[in-house]
Amino acid sequence: MGAHEETFTYETKSRSEIVERFKDDCPDPAGCANAEGYCGCACQFGGRISRFLSETFDSEDAAAEAILDRHSKWDGSAIAAYFDDGDREGVVVGGWVAE
Ligand SMILES: [Zn+2]
Repeated sequence: MGAHEETFTYETKSRSEIVERFKDDCPDPAGCANAEGYCGCACQFGGRISRFLSETFDSEDAAAEAILDRHSKWDGSAIAAYFDDGDREGVVVGGWVAE
């Protein structure tokens, strides 16, 4: 059984918007075909953000990379913020899911 990366980027700093959008992006596990949870999709996060990375990264890619470096499948999802030279800022949420 492998692992597959699932991350979502939200260009906002609004905590309530992030929470809402992540919930929407995580499918309902009840609707997922594989009852054992090796479905390879974001339903495994259950719509919850479990871990916060305290640094702010200098790009969306760097934030995603840091999450994937520090995350193992079956962990709850992690969130990391980025601020890209004054141009773009937001967060990446996700991690590895089992497939
Ligand atoms: Zn699923």
